Amino acid sequence: MFKRTLRRLSAMNSIVFLLIFVFFGTVIYGFVSYRFFDKVDEAMFLKIKNYSIVNGKMVPYSRSRFLFDPRIFILIRDDWGQVSTIFPYDQDNMENLLELIAEVQPYQFQTRTIENHTYRILDIPYRNPDNILDTERGPIVVRGLIAVSIVDSEVASLRDLLIVIASGLVIGMIIIVFASYNLARRSMIPIQASWEKQQQFVADASHELRTPLAVVTSNAELILRHPAHSVEEESIRVTNIIREVRRMTKLVSNLLTLARSDANQIEIKLDLVNGKEVIETVTELFIPLAEMEGLTLQVNLGEQLELMADKERLHQLLVILLDNAIKYTPPPGQLLITGSKQGGCMVITVEDSGPGIPTKDLPHVFDRFYRGDKARSREKGGTGLGLSIAKWIVDQHGGKIDVVNKSGGGAKFSIVLPVKINK
Ligand code: ADP
Repeated sequence: MFKRTLRRLSAMNSIVFLLIFVFFGTVIYGFVSYRFFDKVDEAMFLKIKNYSIVNGKMVPYSRSRFLFDPRIFILIRDDWGQVSTIFPYDQDNMENLLELIAEVQPYQFQTRTIENHTYRILDIPYRNPDNILDTERGPIVVRGLIAVSIVDSEVASLRDLLIVIASGLVIGMIIIVFASYNLARRSMIPIQASWEKQQQFVADASHELRTPLAVVTSNAELILRHPAHSVEEESIRVTNIIREVRRMTKLVSNLLTLARSDANQIEIKLDLVNGKEVIETVTELFIPLAEMEGLTLQVNLGEQLELMADKERLHQLLVILLDNAIKYTPPPGQLLITGSKQGGCMVITVEDSGPGIPTKDLPHVFDRFYRGDKARSREKGGTGLGLSIAKWIVDQHGGKIDVVNKSGGGAKFSIVLPVKINK
């Protein structure tokens, strides 16, 4: 699937680059070609306009405006439509010139190629008809002046430019295809990574759901085998089913939270929250639970702990950490939760006197579905998603969460939350 998208993206990138290249190539060629001929045209036009025929001779109107361009040749079109020149010329060339100016339209610049030479031609009707005495035909009236200029050098330069642009296009195309492929490949990396993450997420979720579903099915089937048994007689199986359904409910709820967080569908509602109050509320909930497990839970809070946060999510974060601390600390043990203000941040720590987290597990505990001791986590109803949700909550608040093993044993989770969030 990714290979096809990669090919498509590369092709699309190449086409876009190619179109841009062709567009600029055309613009450059058109502009240079226009500028080249524009200069020649202007010179031809000036030369015609600056000539006058006085007493049968072509003379410039004014010396100062006279344009000397030896490439430009002036011809005369007479009353009878005949063309001749009053400048000295080579008879052989005249034939070519006549061929060149055949069918030239007045006031239009035209380009003609004869015998591998390219000429630019302009025919302008003459303003002040004056008689010229032709030795053979007698007096003739000049009706038009035709300027002819050889433009071989311009045509050659344009041809060179075209070759440069075409070669640039070919070399550019090779680079473009290579660059497009690499660009497309680079842009695909995060997409591919996120796709693989999602695939892994779905696979892990299915795997996690399979075990409780199998337990529920097998226990239900066992109950069905003895339809005459009372609920009391089947109480162990019923308890098993209820426990697994609870686990699935928790798992599905966690999965939903993470899936919605991935899709940015969960909004963090920031309010001015009394952090001290939130910690106290959660601690009160957990003190009886800790006591039931043979643990003591101590709280150590600073005076003022106000911060901008989502109260519900902050509550959820503390529940996850205290729940884990109780789950993984064998009795008799001590749990400690602290809250204090340090600089522009609120720092919360949750520590326990349990076995801590094996060093190899430390970098992975915030990964989805990562469980250090699978059997213990499962036995305690863990889903392997708690800490990844905790990390997501902290990230959403622009904070940091970290875990270390204490030198005296036990794990210590530290959370740093900025008091003000710039979102
Ligand atoms: P679980 O549902 O398995 O507890 P979590 O994401 O909450 O999933 O935690 C991931 C893993 O981190 C746990 O399986 C456990 O191995 C380890 N862990 C988390 N908290 C503690 C703790 N307080 N003491 C020791 N290990 C812990």
